[in-house]
Amino acid sequence: RNWAESGLPPLLLQAVEKCGYKKPSPIQMAAIPLGMQQRDVIGVAETGSGKTAAFVLPMLTYIMRQPPMNEENEADGPYAVVLAPTRELAQQIEEETHKMAAFTDYRVTSVVGGQSIEEQGSKLRKGCEIVIATPGRLLDCIDRHYAVLNQCNYVVLDEADRMIDLGFEPQVIGVLDAMPASTLKPDEEGAVLEANRTYRTTYMFSATMPTAVERLAKKYLRRPVVVVI
Ligand code: AMP
Repeated sequence: RNWAESGLPPLLLQAVEKCGYKKPSPIQMAAIPLGMQQRDVIGVAETGSGKTAAFVLPMLTYIMRQPPMNEENEADGPYAVVLAPTRELAQQIEEETHKMAAFTDYRVTSVVGGQSIEEQGSKLRKGCEIVIATPGRLLDCIDRHYAVLNQCNYVVLDEADRMIDLGFEPQVIGVLDAMPASTLKPDEEGAVLEANRTYRTTYMFSATMPTAVERLAKKYLRRPVVVVI
């Protein structure tokens, strides 16, 4: 299998090529087509597997399908949010996102602890397509009305088990509940998705599947495909 078969838009294939990623890694091969179809995904994969690009590339594809951001819809907030347990991981995700988005003009804002929340607030006010955040700080920004998630319908929970271990379950839930509930896919068996409605796509990565992670998945993911690498 190769990148050309992945169905990714040319601007993203160019970025992948520029990074020297010769072929998709196993997690990328499995998860990218699912994300492109906006299926929810649970990825059981470790750092080093290429999991970041596996969720960033479908996320960017999703954003390309949205109307370009302008002064009118910017105030409704980003199109996509990635939550990560630590500043360091958020920073790595931000770097990978910048690389994959090199041929787009999408703006990425990081919202993590240990930096001035007022500064993050003013960055958010300028508008961005993508927010990469730690859950506690993003929830603070939401509570202060610095961050709005009224049009966020692509969400990634990276290292969900570590976020739970660090005690962030309430903050993760707080952030997810700040997104439009009306876009959650129906969870009854055999439900039909309406063609002209927007549905939220949720990607969850976790190295392990403790009860609390399963609880989150049950509430916010809709018939996810589980990819184990
Ligand atoms: P991750 O598992 O996302 O932390 O990625 C681990 C490392 O692999 C990162 O430094 C990426 O830049 C690199 N990487 C991701 N995808 C590929 C690929 N398809 N081919 C080669 N390297 C990759």
